[in-house]
Amino acid sequence: MALSLAIRGSDHFVKASYPVRAGVYSEVETDSCILHFNLNQEIIRAQGKGDGWPHPQEWLQRTIGNDWVYYSTGGYAGVFEATGEYYLPNLPYRTNNILGGNPLQIAPVAALLETWHQRLCEIAAHHSGNAAEDAFLQAARRNGPTRLEQRAQELFAIIGGRPSVLPPDTRHVDYRVVPLTVHRGCLYKCSFCRVKNKAAPSPLSAADIDRQIDRLACFFGDDLANHNSLFLGEHDALLADPELLCYAIEQAQRRLGLTSSNLAGSNVFLFGSVGSLRRAPRRLFDELERLPGRVYLNIGLESFDQATLDQLGKPLTSAEVGEAFATMLEINARFSSIEVTANLVIDDRLNEDHHQSLITLIRDRVGKTTSKGAIYLSPLSFGNPSRARLFSFYHLKRLSRLPLYLYTIQRL
Ligand code: SF4
Repeated sequence: MALSLAIRGSDHFVKASYPVRAGVYSEVETDSCILHFNLNQEIIRAQGKGDGWPHPQEWLQRTIGNDWVYYSTGGYAGVFEATGEYYLPNLPYRTNNILGGNPLQIAPVAALLETWHQRLCEIAAHHSGNAAEDAFLQAARRNGPTRLEQRAQELFAIIGGRPSVLPPDTRHVDYRVVPLTVHRGCLYKCSFCRVKNKAAPSPLSAADIDRQIDRLACFFGDDLANHNSLFLGEHDALLADPELLCYAIEQAQRRLGLTSSNLAGSNVFLFGSVGSLRRAPRRLFDELERLPGRVYLNIGLESFDQATLDQLGKPLTSAEVGEAFATMLEINARFSSIEVTANLVIDDRLNEDHHQSLITLIRDRVGKTTSKGAIYLSPLSFGNPSRARLFSFYHLKRLSRLPLYLYTIQRL
């Protein structure tokens, strides 16, 4: 067994076709597996060794919400073009993915998930190293599956519930975000939406935000040093009062040390809507531009076709969607550290007018090809990967003047 404490990985999230680990972590390696731990001695990655493991450059990763996700290369066939990332996260729950299989059910993968803690306990029982190594192994041993699940529940309690979806742009930081709720609920309660909650749109106060930040600082503890990004929840944080939004970002960045972590730079991710974007004052964007780091605002547009909006139960007109799209382009052109991205739906069941209106939006309404302002296409169906939809996606990608990717819904 080889034990390496506090390995200094990359200081930023690298998009590469081979594994690059960001931040500081510890590693336990045996002849059958490699286990990685964060600065709280909690397991974050696991990889099997030997012929049974599906691929030497694929691994299991545990999220802060205690989901185990299998990162696969997808045979490197079109994964980057489709998602903007070299690795495909295979999630342990039904979602709207088009790509991917069921690697979590492959026997050696399932066995490692089942036995990693038992293997660690055996190592801890027999290892005799220096005091730092012994302390690490004893702490890691105490963080077994039950404790890790309790920790996830503690986090959800701090922020008022588990976020059912993360903005697609959080892929840029491998979904490693500190969540902070600034506004509950959403405006539209669209009938098609599988991630909405029952909460009426309601703001939180500065005192609520302060309380969350204090508790988040305790919760993340030493591993805050491995975090540089904030997710402002819930489904429409842009509804929050502009002063409160900026207050939440400034306080979180300062008190959680997000701008001085082991990772270069800092990011803020949030969702907005057509309604909240329309009512957001320009001074908010001026203020966001002045704050440290980058801001990624993701807007749910869904469709530019009126019949489809009606079918989706989204109470908007196509004119309002077009106006929000124009605002998105304008903000992206004007502000260097703010990127507004948008979600639109795709599905075999939607009509041809939706398809054509999508082309109008992403090709005809964009002056010139640009790398800023990604469009994420979200399949409506859950648990139903479809090759036909993939062909349709590649057709649209060829036509688009904006970066175009598939959006697989991933929860915290
Ligand atoms: S799509 Fe957005 S606005 Fe509509 S119900 Fe879902 S979260 Fe709410």
